Amino acid sequence: MAVVKANAYGHGLAPVMDALAGRVKMFGVANLAEAREAAHHAGKTPIFLLGAALPSERAHIVDEGFVPAVSSFEEAVAFSKLSTGAKVRVHFVVDTGMGRMGVCESDALAVAERVFAMPGIEVAGVCSHLPVADDDDVFTRAQLTRFHTLVTAMRERGLPADALIHIENSAGFIAFPEQAGALVRAGLAIYGVAPRAEFQSKLRPALTWKTRVLLVRDFIAGRGVSYGRTFTTPAPMRIATLAVGYADGYPRQLSGRGASVLIRGQRCAVLGRVTMDQIMVDVTALPDIAPGEEAVLLGKQGDEKIPATDLAERAGTIAWDIFTGIGTRVARVPFDSAVSSAQDSQ
Ligand SMILES: *Cc1c(COP(=O)(O)O)cnc(C)c1O
Repeated sequence: MAVVKANAYGHGLAPVMDALAGRVKMFGVANLAEAREAAHHAGKTPIFLLGAALPSERAHIVDEGFVPAVSSFEEAVAFSKLSTGAKVRVHFVVDTGMGRMGVCESDALAVAERVFAMPGIEVAGVCSHLPVADDDDVFTRAQLTRFHTLVTAMRERGLPADALIHIENSAGFIAFPEQAGALVRAGLAIYGVAPRAEFQSKLRPALTWKTRVLLVRDFIAGRGVSYGRTFTTPAPMRIATLAVGYADGYPRQLSGRGASVLIRGQRCAVLGRVTMDQIMVDVTALPDIAPGEEAVLLGKQGDEKIPATDLAERAGTIAWDIFTGIGTRVARVPFDSAVSSAQDSQ
């Protein structure tokens, strides 16, 4: 399952889905509004709603043929009542440790058995979610074992043989591929970023976030830069103003955290606070730089790179948050990866 919620992790829903159509078993989105947008690009591939549905959304989900995740007996009853001839296909969610959705593990078998017998419903999948796949191997391994044991018991109580079993997110299937089940829900990994640093060499990031130099200005020593005057030039400096700010999703939390951007393959330090629409960077070492020049905020330029995980760490957050925070003001430009990797190697 390709997880394309939140505008395909900020990468742009249409190009990502068009690239993956026909190559994945399902698409995963957060909610009904996202499912409707995804439906334009999904072809015949089913769309799964990862999040819980509002009661008022259930009839639309059934009418429009999306696959809901069911977290309780009552929810299953509500979906079964909406069936008009054809059975409503749902996935049954078990809470094996995430504490967010699903029937609690201890009740799951008894509830599932009643749902399997319910008219109007087909349990086309059983799933769960891993809360610590990226940092607690002991818990995760035990959780995976408990889940698969439960699924085996469900098979003896009426779970259809072809039901899709899924529990692993990116961190899960990269670290525990042998316990994957029939399907994995791949989010971060399909965008080329590993949730665990030791696996990054297997992946190539899909996204580069760029902006341009708006102004280049020469400062004497002792001038303040940006709100709060948290940075003062210690010596004469050449400073570029760039067209990006926290309104674009460049985190304001990066202010004063040693972040940099890449211009002409060189690191240029971000100076002072990130403002809503602009940041200032040190280009003293690049004397002939001019407005219009490209700056890389995230990704590769020349031999240097700024991984999403680095930016996230400096901002006190995670790569998922950086990607999904990239604002609507930032244009998504699909490019041909074969062409770009040829250019990379030149
Ligand atoms: C978002 C999401 C995923 C994808 O997680 P990644 O860590 O990005 O792979 C998988 N499963 C569920 C239920 C999700 O909400």
